[in-house]
Amino acid sequence: MFVGHFALGFAAKRAAPRASLGALFLAAQFADVLWPVLVAAGIESVRIAPGITAFTPLDFVSYPYSHSLVALAVWGAALGAVCQIAIGGRATFVVIAALVLSHWLLDFVTHRPDMPLYPGSATYGLGLWNSVAATVIVELAMFAAGVWIYAASTRARDRAGRWSFIALVTFLVIAYAGNVAGGPPPSVAAIYWAGIAGAAVILVWGWWTDSHRAIVPRRA
Ligand SMILES: [Zn+2]
Repeated sequence: MFVGHFALGFAAKRAAPRASLGALFLAAQFADVLWPVLVAAGIESVRIAPGITAFTPLDFVSYPYSHSLVALAVWGAALGAVCQIAIGGRATFVVIAALVLSHWLLDFVTHRPDMPLYPGSATYGLGLWNSVAATVIVELAMFAAGVWIYAASTRARDRAGRWSFIALVTFLVIAYAGNVAGGPPPSVAAIYWAGIAGAAVILVWGWWTDSHRAIVPRRA
């Protein structure tokens, strides 16, 4: 899943308004931020296997530290604690930890049975990726809802806050479309470099956009 994770990051702004969109994206995407680094380091592994699912040609051979349920619970608690100390706010710890954990649930729905519960466990997955149409419908519906909630929870302080938000949403949709329409990646190195660079750009963009937007007070 790709834009579905960002959907939850956007939507979480309502629940944890003090957390920057950059932090919320980092939490929702923590598994996929860590994963390319661990693949590059040779600790986790992926194979390019066109046809393995209708949606993605990637065969996630092993990713116990970035994508098992137990690992993500630990990462979630750690990132939640860091964010709670750094930014405060009543709901910050719970929202950040839940976002990190949500990655497992969404990937469990989309992936073929390759998601571990803990390092070395059996693997699970419901296989939404076996249908391109179903994947795109579910993810875009989630994304639209998440963007709508963020747009309703914040307002632009200035022109940058308006246009950076619109450009970020457009960029994510275009990147997703490229994912859907593009062929298999040329190499595993291309996968992790794209993953690391893409994550860096999106996290900084999310943080910068959010810094140009203000919270809309909720009506009682
Ligand atoms: Zn993932």
